[in-house]
Amino acid sequence: VIIGVARETAAGERRVALTPETCRKFVAAGASVRAERGLGRGAHFPDQAYAAAGAQLVADADAALAGADLVLCVQPPPAAMIERLQHGTVLVGSLQPQADPARAAALQALAIVAFPLERLPRTTRAQAMDVLSSQAGMAGYKAMLIAAQLAPRFFPMLTTAAGTIRPSKVLVVGAGVAGLQAIATAKRLGAQVEGFDVRPETREQIQSLGGKFLDLGVSAAGEGGYARALTDEERAEQQRRLSEHLKTIDVVVCTAAVPGRPAPKILDAAMVEGMQPGSVIVDLAAETGGNCELTRPGETIERDGVVIAGPLHLASSGALHASEMYARNVFNFASLLLKDGALAFDWDDELLAKTVWPQPPAAAAPAAAASAT
Ligand code: NAD
Repeated sequence: VIIGVARETAAGERRVALTPETCRKFVAAGASVRAERGLGRGAHFPDQAYAAAGAQLVADADAALAGADLVLCVQPPPAAMIERLQHGTVLVGSLQPQADPARAAALQALAIVAFPLERLPRTTRAQAMDVLSSQAGMAGYKAMLIAAQLAPRFFPMLTTAAGTIRPSKVLVVGAGVAGLQAIATAKRLGAQVEGFDVRPETREQIQSLGGKFLDLGVSAAGEGGYARALTDEERAEQQRRLSEHLKTIDVVVCTAAVPGRPAPKILDAAMVEGMQPGSVIVDLAAETGGNCELTRPGETIERDGVVIAGPLHLASSGALHASEMYARNVFNFASLLLKDGALAFDWDDELLAKTVWPQPPAAAAPAAAASAT
């Protein structure tokens, strides 16, 4: 099997889907790897390291992708790049096919066997392949560091000759993978940390990290272990209790999300107005619109003395470790497709059957797709 990997072209993307470490593993599994020169530059993996790991370095994306059986990526490739793939190529990455009709059409026109990794079921067996989790961890960590950087305060308590400094009070909104990592990071920096979520099981998870669970009286567990959107009454109750509490908080990091929907709006303008001057809000949900209605994605603004940051590309800002984790996730998933150095699809395996897009498994097999044309 020939594996092709081209440089990521999306703005702000520094991560890479293949590292020298996973390249070596693919080669050991019998694959030939073609990597575009400069592939790992943004994540600080030099060409020589890929060459030493057994990759064939090629001049451009066309040379990397032409004739490849399996193509790996981080961001969804643009339609123009998909069109260069051969019929029936297997494509693994964060493909988000539904987000762009041109991309979806390009994938279908070439009967690409697409595995958008965001569709992977979040079962125990799939944990080692879960790119949403590995990348959310980096995003939560970076969001809290940005908050610490923007805050005009120390996070830890300090006892000094100039008097005692009280620790910052940090609130993390949403305690999924990113939120829990944000809580852990704030704890390590010495802050007093609280978190809340609408999934009741997060109480124990927040407490296990040394945080305090902020009970806003709303419980909204939905399908598949995710949250559901709140009803109007639930939302009003959450807002009422939260507005009061925010007056005592120095730093808010927002991470709340509901799958397939824009980020829930949790902090409104009146709540921000009620916060103490010198407070900081970092809205990690900015990528999907933000949890704070004042957030401007990609910008840092100030309103009534409160700084509101909506950073983008957070996982990419930790590209080296984010890529190491992403590439291992991809290798672990791709291993399900590789048998004796060739591609094989076990459609009885739910990790393949539920991740493949868009065809039902039987019709998605390359042989079936090829015979249909
Ligand atoms: P996510 O990114 O979809 O959402 C982030 C958090 O926001 C979630 O915890 C959600 O409950 C919360 N949220 C949504 N609306 C909210 C609101 N109005 N107020 C406050 N919080 C709100 O979530 P995620 O980090 O991807 O994790 C989702 C679930 O998947 C969790 O149950 C997690 O434990 C589970 N998970 C399982 C595995 C596995 O077993 N393989 C791996 C990763 C995550």
